[in-house]
Amino acid sequence: MMNAFKMKISSLLTLGAMITFFAVQAQERPKIEPKLTEVWSPVPAKVTPGENNAAPSDAIVLFDGKDLNEWTSQDGGLPKWDVENGVLTVKARTGVIKTKEKFGDFQLHIEWRAPSEVKGEGQGRGNSGIFMMERYELQVLDSYESVTYSNGQAGSMYKQSIPLVNACKAPGEWQTYDVVFMAPVFTENGSLKSPAKITVLHNGILVQNGFELKGPTEYDQIPMYEPHGKGSLVLQDHGNPVSYRNIWIREL
Ligand code: MG
Repeated sequence: MMNAFKMKISSLLTLGAMITFFAVQAQERPKIEPKLTEVWSPVPAKVTPGENNAAPSDAIVLFDGKDLNEWTSQDGGLPKWDVENGVLTVKARTGVIKTKEKFGDFQLHIEWRAPSEVKGEGQGRGNSGIFMMERYELQVLDSYESVTYSNGQAGSMYKQSIPLVNACKAPGEWQTYDVVFMAPVFTENGSLKSPAKITVLHNGILVQNGFELKGPTEYDQIPMYEPHGKGSLVLQDHGNPVSYRNIWIREL
C-alpha cells in the first residue's frame, strides 16, 4: 500500500518536472515576427543552367569537344592526347594532361568512357583517373564486370575510400562524374587545419559523401599532407584508351 503511494507521488513529481521543463522550453523560444527572420541580401548571382549536362553560364569550359587549348602536358608542352569527333582520348604513354589554370574549391562535371573493346583485368582495364589539385585521385576504371580491390574501383578515392555503391555503366557507354571538392587548408606554419573533402555523384548516384582525404593519393605509401596552394586538374595516362568529353568546372 505504502509502495503504491510512493510510486504515485514519484510519478506526479516526474510529471510536474516535465511540465516545468516544457514550459521553460516554450518560454525560451518566443515567437518572432516572421519579417525579422527574412534575409534579403546578398542576392545570389543568377546562373543559367545548361541543358543535358551542358556547362552553366558561370562555368569555365575545360573541354567542349574542339581542342585542348585549356590543357598542357606534364612538362607544360602541347598535350599529345587525341581529339576526334568531339572526344578526347588518352594516347598511351604520352603522359598526363593538366589544366593551365589552377583551382582550389570547385564543382566539376566530367564525362568518361571505358574502351568498348574490353582488354585486361582489374586495374589494367579502362584505367585513368582525375586528380584534383594534381594530388587527389578519383579513380576512373571499367568496374562494370571486373574485379579489383574495392578502394581502387571506379568512384573510389584511390586507396582511401570505397565508393558507396558501384554505379558503373558498361564499357563503351558514356558515364558522368559530378564532383564537389574542397581544398585542404593549412596553417601558416604548414600544419593541416582542415583536410580536403570530396563529394562525388557517379551517373547521378552518390558514391562519395563529403569524404575527408587522408592526404595525396599514394600507390605504395601512407598518404601524408604537405602544404600546397591551388593546383591543376590532371587526367591520368594509365596506358588505356579511356575517353573524355564535356568537362567544365565552377570555382567556389
Ligand atoms: Mg587511375
